[in-house]
Amino acid sequence: MINRRQWLYGLGVMAGAAAQPGSGFAKHPQEPQKTQHRPLDLSDFEPKSMLQVHESRVERAKFPVLDFHTHITRSATSENGVELASERKYLGTPEELLAVMDRRNIRAMVNLTGGYDKGLGEAITKYDRAFPGRFYTFTEPCYERWKEPHYPQLQAQAIEQAYGQGARGLKILKTLGLYLRENITSGELVKIDDPRFDPMWDACGQFNIPVAIHVSDPVAFFAPPDRFNERYEELNNHPAWSFYGGDFPSNAELLEARNRVLARHPKTQFVVLHVGNFGENLANVAQNLDRFPNMTVDIAARIGELGRQPRTAGKFFDRYQDRILFGTDATPHGDEFPQQVFNDQLYEIYYRFLETEDEYFDYAPAKIPPQGRWRIYGVNLPETILRKVYFENAARQLGVTG
Ligand SMILES: [Zn+2]
Repeated sequence: MINRRQWLYGLGVMAGAAAQPGSGFAKHPQEPQKTQHRPLDLSDFEPKSMLQVHESRVERAKFPVLDFHTHITRSATSENGVELASERKYLGTPEELLAVMDRRNIRAMVNLTGGYDKGLGEAITKYDRAFPGRFYTFTEPCYERWKEPHYPQLQAQAIEQAYGQGARGLKILKTLGLYLRENITSGELVKIDDPRFDPMWDACGQFNIPVAIHVSDPVAFFAPPDRFNERYEELNNHPAWSFYGGDFPSNAELLEARNRVLARHPKTQFVVLHVGNFGENLANVAQNLDRFPNMTVDIAARIGELGRQPRTAGKFFDRYQDRILFGTDATPHGDEFPQQVFNDQLYEIYYRFLETEDEYFDYAPAKIPPQGRWRIYGVNLPETILRKVYFENAARQLGVTG
């Protein structure tokens, strides 16, 4: 015969077992049933959304796409974040890229990291010239020669040479502002608006080729990488991405230096990558777009930001529909960074974000959202804006027709 107390405990065990199958809670019938807290590693936490809402699959973009921001080649060597070789590393063959491009309605890709000199020439031959209209390659500054006395003129001439080789623009990585130092890899950091680069910016204006510029990074990378940081896991996985402390300038200082460059070179077109490098603050990006007629932005690797503020983003797309370019930051075989790995799935997510009003879906093909634990909402752009963002705005920058 069991007494009432024992019977209640027994019921508690059963209820606990039903609610948490196999969880091992309250194994001992003598223990009073109560909620127990068990530690769980954040990296093991993979919650599955129970939300049942419409899921669209967008395999092909509604209109042909020009992906303005990809990395098909990159410098073969770098030191302390500074690329130091003309020689390129090839990340994907044209054939494997074209297969995805054809499936996903991508007419052309811009390879931003084409380098300079011989490496640039080879990349242009292998992609742009071999497959006309499908690939466009950009040049990059030659930081190897930074210490040479006539660097400003040399770099301006290098732009002219690259233009002659077939480069369609200049790419600036965050090397400028965060890695390049007076002695290239040591000494004081060189500022983005250092006047020694003025002839280079002007040369781009003279040859009418855009500057695709990346400065700064997500603001969370400049905040302490602690439990209050919304990108804690990402910084934990990539500690070198943190620009908190040391002699790094603040995010605001970097953006201000960039703005001074835009103001000083009004005849040069600047595509400020990653939503003007401040996707967390579209009011700020809007302010700069209003201030600088020579500024446009791309959306590369920032649908995670845009998609978590879909109403603000929708208004932003509407207001700046002529100045927003489609880009992904796609890198062939870049599996380590799911938000920018070049594959079919990545493009489907971008199209779903731009073309549907789907709710609460993953912004990257990954088990755990890699840029912060949230999901996104589609902005369902009207067709006229889609055409501009997918193709027309980028085509104008590149001087491409059709
Ligand atoms: Zn990039």
